[in-house]
Amino acid sequence: MAILHVAQMGHPVLRMVAEPVDPAIIPTPQFQQFCDDLLETMFEYEGQGLAAPQVHQPIRVTVLTLSEERGPEFFINPHIDFLTEDAVRFYEGCLSIEGMRAAVDRCAHIRVRALDRDGTPKVLELKGFPAIVVQHENDHLDGILFVDRCDPGTLAFLSEFRRFGPLDRFGEEDAEDLEDAEDAEDAEDAEDPDEIRVVDAQPPGHTPVAS
Ligand code: ZN
Repeated sequence: MAILHVAQMGHPVLRMVAEPVDPAIIPTPQFQQFCDDLLETMFEYEGQGLAAPQVHQPIRVTVLTLSEERGPEFFINPHIDFLTEDAVRFYEGCLSIEGMRAAVDRCAHIRVRALDRDGTPKVLELKGFPAIVVQHENDHLDGILFVDRCDPGTLAFLSEFRRFGPLDRFGEEDAEDLEDAEDAEDAEDAEDPDEIRVVDAQPPGHTPVAS
């Protein structure tokens, strides 16, 4: 296993549209080694997720942790369907944009279809934070960074973010009320809780009807 170097914003690899993975190479030792290295790199830098282009490999592979129970998992050649026009706002950061945060509005309910690292197809329907993480990582495969999608007035260095809190809420409450704000956020979460639903993937060999 090896810890890989993480490309920083400005490196052209982060702006490339990544190539699909040929499923035939998934079982190869080289590809499995790459998966191990991507995972170890994500752990090393304490990321919630990591996409292959972030370690200079422009191929359609991401690894991310949707929940503690599921643990880290791979998404190879992922495809997202957006299931609602409702958006959910979250302050995002990125291992390729060190020390920055900004608010990003993303689709609140998605379906993701992908292959796992053993080549097994999987389909998940996601709401809340898991949906956000998948969209953030998937964007990396299309050369898109969270700063492209963020509310620009909320961009902050991490040190200032910790000092002043979210800029889109600044002035709405005193700093000492931040705890109340966090409580309010919890209440919002309760209304639209995180959800991970495993949908039956097509059995191998089944040819889905084009739609
Ligand atoms: Zn990122």
